[in-house]
Amino acid sequence: MHVTIVGAGLGGLVLARVLHVHGVPVTVHEAEASPSARTQGGMLDIHEHNGQVALRAAGLFDEFRALVLEGHEASRVLAPDGTVLLDEPDDGTGGRPEVQRGELRRMLLDALPDGTVHWGHRVTGVRALGEGRHELTFADGTTETTELLVGADGAWSRIRPLLSDATPEYTGTSFVETYLFDGDTRHPRTAEAVGAGAMLANTPGKGIQAHRESDGRLHTYVALSRPQDWFAAVDFTDPAGAAERIAQEFEGWAPELTALITEGDTDPVLRPLNALPVGHRWDRVPGVTLLGDAAHLSVPNGEGANLAMFDGAELAVAIAAHPGDVEAALRAYEGALFPRSADEAAEAVRDFDLCFGANAPDSLIALLTGQA
Ligand SMILES: Cc1cc2nc3c(=O)[nH]c(=O)nc-3n(C[C@H](O)[C@H](O)[C@H](O)COP(=O)(O)OP(=O)(O)OC[C@H]3O[C@@H](n4cnc5c(N)ncnc54)[C@H](O)[C@@H]3O)c2cc1C
Repeated sequence: MHVTIVGAGLGGLVLARVLHVHGVPVTVHEAEASPSARTQGGMLDIHEHNGQVALRAAGLFDEFRALVLEGHEASRVLAPDGTVLLDEPDDGTGGRPEVQRGELRRMLLDALPDGTVHWGHRVTGVRALGEGRHELTFADGTTETTELLVGADGAWSRIRPLLSDATPEYTGTSFVETYLFDGDTRHPRTAEAVGAGAMLANTPGKGIQAHRESDGRLHTYVALSRPQDWFAAVDFTDPAGAAERIAQEFEGWAPELTALITEGDTDPVLRPLNALPVGHRWDRVPGVTLLGDAAHLSVPNGEGANLAMFDGAELAVAIAAHPGDVEAALRAYEGALFPRSADEAAEAVRDFDLCFGANAPDSLIALLTGQA
């Protein structure tokens, strides 16, 4: 049994690592040219009940703990005028430690045998050959035949059409991403407003959400519920103009908060939020399955990377538990995946509404304090 994974995100890499732990040979095809081809985004809080379970299954729990940024689990909610509405310091007892996504990915890559990941292998086509076998075509024109194929290739999966006609749809909200470097010395009032961990200043339909990363970097997602046409009219090729236009939507907000938009050290990046239908599932197709965002892309609520890693570990364990019987392994995996993903996707929609719905920020505070 050889497993072929498309996508070296956190989900695909956990699958590869847990398969390796169980002695199952595996190849990962990744579109990006190298591990450092793209910055890997910001902080992830890794949850006890899913992300941490997956890292234990990968035999990498101690290595993960060594990456945790102590103190960064703090969270606070601010009103638009900068008033602190909720302040929960990191007292070391929380179950959601924070790590840099790039460091977690590096840890997983280092735990795989050399040559497992084939970098610069973008899948451009896939077709069924019958009896559970598939042929992958890569951007360089080469092909490969698979015995067991896993689509771990994220939101716009090339593998998903083998199983389902579903495509992600715009949720009505986009994030605009900015970074302020060296916040404590260059932007002390803003750094103070963000605090030691996460800061959320949300109101109905919009918000400024920032996180303190290592080296005092302040990483911000500005949330705006606007149609895609609205964002299309903002010229992101003019970074300063785009930042000004986005900041106009926060007129009257405290300057230490709007500085997170206007004082950015990197160009603002538009990140439209898309989602698959809640409860997305498919009929069993021999020799192929999906995990992570490819299977259940949802609005972000801090679970997506955790769920992708959990899926990866669950699938690997199912494959190892059914030697020589791919279909039994995939039935067992999908039998648990579908209800779990449906519940999680429904919860993501609910959480998103608590964050940005009509009752924000009161509903957000209720969510963070377990009262929702
Ligand atoms: C703005 C934003 C903030 C988020 N914040 C959080 C958070 O705080 N916590 C959290 O848990 N989750 C968060 N998420 C969700 C999280 O990022 C995803 O759920 C998670 O990355 C999914 O992992 P994955 O392995 O399924 O896919 P991905 O991480 O998307 O990895 C897919 C991989 O497949 C590769 N690939 C794609 N197409 C091909 C192809 N054709 N051929 C070969 N390779 C291909 C890609 O290059 C990529 O490396 C956030 C999402 C967004 C949009």
